[in-house]
Amino acid sequence: MPVQKTQAFVIRTQSLGEVDKIISFYTSNFGKMRAVARGIKRSKSRLGGSLELLNYGDLVFFERPNKDLQIINSFDILDSFGVLKDDLTKTAYAFYIAELLDVTGVEGKTNEAAFQLTLTALSTMEKVLHPELLVHAYELQLLTLMGYQPQLYNCVGCTGQITGKVFHFSPPLGGMLCDKCFYRNSSALHLSRGTCELMKRIQMLDLPLVTRISASDAVMGELKNALSTFITFQLERHFKSLDFIASIKEPKGKRARGKEGKRENEKARKRENGKAGK
Ligand SMILES: [Zn+2]
Repeated sequence: MPVQKTQAFVIRTQSLGEVDKIISFYTSNFGKMRAVARGIKRSKSRLGGSLELLNYGDLVFFERPNKDLQIINSFDILDSFGVLKDDLTKTAYAFYIAELLDVTGVEGKTNEAAFQLTLTALSTMEKVLHPELLVHAYELQLLTLMGYQPQLYNCVGCTGQITGKVFHFSPPLGGMLCDKCFYRNSSALHLSRGTCELMKRIQMLDLPLVTRISASDAVMGELKNALSTFITFQLERHFKSLDFIASIKEPKGKRARGKEGKRENEKARKRENGKAGK
């Protein structure tokens, strides 16, 4: 078995039998990859705690050609993002980043830009007070790199330029709709000019520069809704990490009704999915 080396992030861990684990990585040289950490649950394992979620390091593995699962030889941590993991909200957002990478990444398909973007996002997040806008910029830029770029400049119906005062954003159709094409998805979201401009700006801007931008609560609310709806439609996936973020952001009074609220949310989501399928 040839030995390979690459830099990698741990994006998911699963138990495998009594002593092993399957670790999903996003790597610099091989894109998404899954590998077995043999004996990791034994107390004397040399892999020990090195393969915690979001750890970034040098991975050495035995490549098994034409097999889904590789075998981990060693993982030397370069950064475990300890500052980030000391903050519950930032940890929640970082878990979301890992989940997003897991869903959009393709096994064996290298995407060095996506790897570097993630590294920048995590290290920048350690330094900011409020990570929300940074994460939205990451979402937009990662989607673009992975082939799910929302169309913000031209109409997804007729390709004409978006002008006018009202901005319609259609998550199922993949971007903006002009006034003439609005009928194609009459439940498209209405966005303010400020939100549209902010989306265009953070789709291109270097992540450390995004942290210098401030936006009103109204714009942040529209942006969050537009992106989460877009991602749910385009990736056909519900993100557990987003539920977690919502649960830690809920005011205390609401949290008491946690389970009931969750059931309501689940029902609402099913209703939405039902509609989308038609
Ligand atoms: Zn149009």
